Amino acid sequence: MKLKLHTQIFIGIVLGVLTGYFFSDISPVILSPVGEIFMRLLRLLVIPLVFTSVTLGIVSIGDPKHLGSVSSKTFLYFISTGFIATSLGLVLASLIKPGVGHAISGLNGEDYGTPPPFSDLIVNIAPQNIFESLSRGDILPVIIFAILLGMALIEIESKGKPIISFFESSFAAIMRITDWIIRLTPIGVFALSATVVATLGIKSLIAVMTYFITVVLGLLIHAGIILPIILKVFGKYSAIDLFRKLLPALAIATPTASSAASLPVTMECLNKNVGVPNRITSFVVPLGTTIDMNGTALYQGVAVLFIAQMYGIDLTFIHMIIIVITAFFASAGAAAVPGAGLVTMVIILNAVNVPVEGLGLILAVDRILDSCRTPVNLWSNSIGTVIVAKLEKEQLKPHEIESEIKL
Ligand code: ASP
Repeated sequence: MKLKLHTQIFIGIVLGVLTGYFFSDISPVILSPVGEIFMRLLRLLVIPLVFTSVTLGIVSIGDPKHLGSVSSKTFLYFISTGFIATSLGLVLASLIKPGVGHAISGLNGEDYGTPPPFSDLIVNIAPQNIFESLSRGDILPVIIFAILLGMALIEIESKGKPIISFFESSFAAIMRITDWIIRLTPIGVFALSATVVATLGIKSLIAVMTYFITVVLGLLIHAGIILPIILKVFGKYSAIDLFRKLLPALAIATPTASSAASLPVTMECLNKNVGVPNRITSFVVPLGTTIDMNGTALYQGVAVLFIAQMYGIDLTFIHMIIIVITAFFASAGAAAVPGAGLVTMVIILNAVNVPVEGLGLILAVDRILDSCRTPVNLWSNSIGTVIVAKLEKEQLKPHEIESEIKL
């Protein structure tokens, strides 16, 4: 009998914790290289995924002249809900303090406390040599270049077709490699949990549990209270009704932890069940799948603060502002595939000088959290689509009954 991936992952975590606990002397030596290889494979995909998915997302806008008003509303929604999500994550992590009292010994937090000048952060976003940015893994300049390239490909019309096809094939191939790497997740989390437990002791796991609960609580508040209020006020639409109509898509997003995998069904639900016209869904949904990731932004806010607390680093209000801004780019830069949010979190950690190695602390629970944050990404994106349609004075006329969507 073949076990499902999340069962395998769960077993990997449990076995990893037990191995790290009972064989704490040998676990780090043998298993830490395995965990490191898994982390490197994850990092390997981030730049090609961001480059291809953002370019294709912009291309899906179509003719910008026709979409001027739609795009401004869409981006306003993406940016404002993204900022709200990260801020909520930061507030909860500051109140609950999941990593305080578990500071990792032997590390001097003060060494990491100085943020880079804010002006550097802004200037460094502007790409100057795309090959250098690609090879150095500088995600923000890559995103800017991808947006410019996407816009240019639309303008040059038929001349752009070969490049668009090339990007489509590249994206499909990268997604396939991602599938292969995802299959290694049970081994990766086994090795990483064993290493964490063996090197940091069981105390750190208690801290990780509190971190886990903080993220889930934030996701519930954002998806269950804040977004429904925004939907009601700006879209005059009931969240319960929308939730019911989106169930098939949400059901796919949870186990796959991939907004991209759920994209066709999300479009189908919004077009047929909710009655949003194609003109709106074909623009907002693919773009939002890449850019509008409220669940990821919220989780990144909590995670960065948690890691800082674990290292005993005090973050100031200015750091928090930097986190809110960079988390928007980091979540937007995360491709809609499992684990992407974890990898792009490096942007935020670097921006506030928190050690990137701290990602190892949260990896053990990351796949489960991915299954929690991905439906929130999809949910926020769908709410944005309904709001933009309503603000564009579109009539939402469902033209097929829900049960006709077969999964
Ligand atoms: N898995 C998420 C998505 O596809 C992205 C992430 O946060 O890792 O929406």
